Amino acid sequence: MALLTKAVKGTQDLLPDVTGRQRYLENTLFEIAETFGFKEIRTPVFEHTELFQRGVGETTDVVQKEMYTFDDKGGRSVTLRPEGTAGAVRAFLEHGLFNETLPQKLCYLLNCYRYEKPQAGRWREFQQFGVEMLGSAEPSADAEVISLANEIFEFLGIEGLELRLNSIGCPECRKKYHAALKEYFEGFRDRLCGTCLERLDKNPMRILDCKSPVCKEICAGAPVILDYLCDECREHFESVKKYLDGMGIAYTVDPGIVRGLDYYTRTVFEFVSTAIGAQGTVCGGGRYDGLVAELGGPQTPALGFGMGTGRLKMVMENSGINLPGDNVCDIYLAPMGKEESFRAMQIAADLRSAGVHTQTDVSGRSLKAQMKYADKIGAKYTAVIGSDELAAGVLKVKNMADGSTCEIEIDGFEDGFMRLMLDNVTSDLSSALEGIDLPGGKAE
Ligand code: ATP
Ligand code: MG
Repeated sequence: MALLTKAVKGTQDLLPDVTGRQRYLENTLFEIAETFGFKEIRTPVFEHTELFQRGVGETTDVVQKEMYTFDDKGGRSVTLRPEGTAGAVRAFLEHGLFNETLPQKLCYLLNCYRYEKPQAGRWREFQQFGVEMLGSAEPSADAEVISLANEIFEFLGIEGLELRLNSIGCPECRKKYHAALKEYFEGFRDRLCGTCLERLDKNPMRILDCKSPVCKEICAGAPVILDYLCDECREHFESVKKYLDGMGIAYTVDPGIVRGLDYYTRTVFEFVSTAIGAQGTVCGGGRYDGLVAELGGPQTPALGFGMGTGRLKMVMENSGINLPGDNVCDIYLAPMGKEESFRAMQIAADLRSAGVHTQTDVSGRSLKAQMKYADKIGAKYTAVIGSDELAAGVLKVKNMADGSTCEIEIDGFEDGFMRLMLDNVTSDLSSALEGIDLPGGKAE
């Protein structure tokens, strides 16, 4: 029975008291991405399992242990997306977007699924905002994508995130680096965790991403990729840093950032918060110049990032940042009886058509209970509708903040009420501006 009233482990509900702010956040993310020319793409929740095996990489944690994979009734193996890049690139290929103007700038907001141990900042269903830019190999593209993430944090007023930057080179630089890493880690065979022992043979760079304290300690002395970069990769990295310097975006070069997914090349980065505990990576991304070809498309350099909105919200809560977006009630109409209720419903309909957030009684409550309700929902104005008011054709509208009242004719009530709201906004604005010298203002 308990199963019926308990959400699956690692999933969460967003209740009405937070969804308004969530929607504000989601809209803001898209609006900022749009200022950079990114356009939304929507792809399915599940894809062929092979797409993720190829696109995320066989040696990654995600593919090895975290995917929700099942056979559908037709016997196809499908997987709930663990991330957004593979699906976006699949769509880019399937619909021939590589023939359109390049770069293609795509963004998305989607739920991802990973079978991980649920803890603070780690869920089995989580939301990611991501962008992908396909078709540019230039370091300015890297800088643009990083500055988009940075702009999101700035706009939301988030401070104290650290941008950690690294280059993991191209397959050429990596050959030599893998050999050096292997040699180094061989010396620690007896201390590495079981997973890292496997990684040692298949993909030693993965070890640098291990979260076990012992492996982390061993990694501290490992060879550094930056010492193995070829000339082109080094030049690219230097140029990315120069762009970031020019835009005033602070970063720390961190050779420990290798990213969890296999397809990355050259620039990789993470925005990390130290304030929300071990799951501090709010945004991670980088270049994946080999992925499009790996999935059967034309050689297309590309890059992007994924930002966990759950962790983003944790950081904001931690810094006391409140987003707007609570649903408001502009006016509550309180009918005194059944007859008045008919009229209240009509007036409410006119107000709502005009965009005014209106509520009225749908529970048959007494006037006293209605006023209590109006107070509870934070109605800005209330108006009682009784037989006297109907006979006079005028409603007395009460401002709940200061108790002041004014009369508005029932005929065309929505126009009168909107004028009242507008007057109040204007007077609030002018008192807020009092004492501030505006350009063009009159000298005293
Ligand atoms: P981590 O190292 O924390 O496991 P990751 O490298 O696996 O992260 P990515 O695949 O780069 O994460 O995903 C991009 C972003 O998505 C992360 O930076 C994080 O904000 C978010 N994210 C990843 N996994 C989860 C999860 N299980 N729950 C909540 N958010 C997540
Ligand atoms: Mg992970």
